[in-house]
Amino acid sequence: MGRSGFSLALLVVALAAWAPHAAGASYGQTVAELGSRSVRVGSADDGVAGAPRRDGTQDDPSATSATAARSLLRMSKKNTNARPDFSKGIYHTKGDVFDEVKAIVAAHPDIMRIDTAQSTRGGYSSELFVVTVELAGLEEDDFGDARASRTDDVDAKQSGEVSGTGAARLSASSHVEKTRVLYNFGEHGRELITVEVAVDLLRALAGGAESAARLAHPDASESTRETARALLATTFKIVPMENVNGRDKVEAGEWCERKNGRGVDCNRNWEVDWGVKAPDYDPSEEYPGTAPFSEPEAFMMKTLLEEFRPHVWVNVHSGMEALFMPFDHKAEEPVGPGADAMKAILHQINAHNCGNRCVVGGGGKGV
Ligand SMILES: [Zn+2]
Repeated sequence: MGRSGFSLALLVVALAAWAPHAAGASYGQTVAELGSRSVRVGSADDGVAGAPRRDGTQDDPSATSATAARSLLRMSKKNTNARPDFSKGIYHTKGDVFDEVKAIVAAHPDIMRIDTAQSTRGGYSSELFVVTVELAGLEEDDFGDARASRTDDVDAKQSGEVSGTGAARLSASSHVEKTRVLYNFGEHGRELITVEVAVDLLRALAGGAESAARLAHPDASESTRETARALLATTFKIVPMENVNGRDKVEAGEWCERKNGRGVDCNRNWEVDWGVKAPDYDPSEEYPGTAPFSEPEAFMMKTLLEEFRPHVWVNVHSGMEALFMPFDHKAEEPVGPGADAMKAILHQINAHNCGNRCVVGGGGKGV
């Protein structure tokens, strides 16, 4: 679950199946199918009563989903049997995923590009691949020389980026500001389906604003035009697989590994409440590292956030049916118009896409 991004406009920790509606009909169908497959593995093997099913046969989904999700999270017996099958065309290996992402971007150079960052922290390195999508056409690079691959020497990078960001702000002030939306997937290595969703999202966006809007509104209503306009006025940054080293461990046979390549939970390495142990703290799951941002994955995500300053941040996880907003580190929710709007949006998504089965609200209250 998400412990990052408390100061940002929106943090959703969503089950992959309930990813953006804009991705549409065939996309939604595919993902729902994948979601049901992954849930069947967990619930069947562990015999959890009341686990939510996606086949529509559940008697009272709204009453049982939260309870079942909590039961799953409290299980003492770990599910070590969820071995992914890469041969059926459902899950793709990391290599295939990035080949596909690069192919999609290469086929749409007018609206997409990939930036690559590298970081080494305490002798451990990782990479971050970020796809920028602007359906109205890529504009002048927002971030100085970000289009080129860059190596992250921490001090040099930070000082260099201050001037780059300042210049971008000056140039950006001459035209209408777009909405900036950040998605990150695959923060936890074992959450394979989220990466599949990232690829499908890129495919849907590659079809252009009109096509993506029609996927969201097959009835070609006025909403289709509004959605298309909104998509054209948005800059997306999409991280298809944040935790690439953890993913390597999963593909090497550590099927239930969620942490990074040296055993740190990327989602417990942020500064907010860093190192505070929840009552159910399990170091094999949530080891936070030696200090905030000790890990290159979290550090590069922080750098991306500071550069991009998103209005919306969607951090996509899998494992339960939930649409979470801040806060996660305490059982409270933020108050005010922004928080109210965030929650209203989540309830709409829940009704529209999740059959109202999702747990909605602050992550710290929902789990
Ligand atoms: Zn996760």
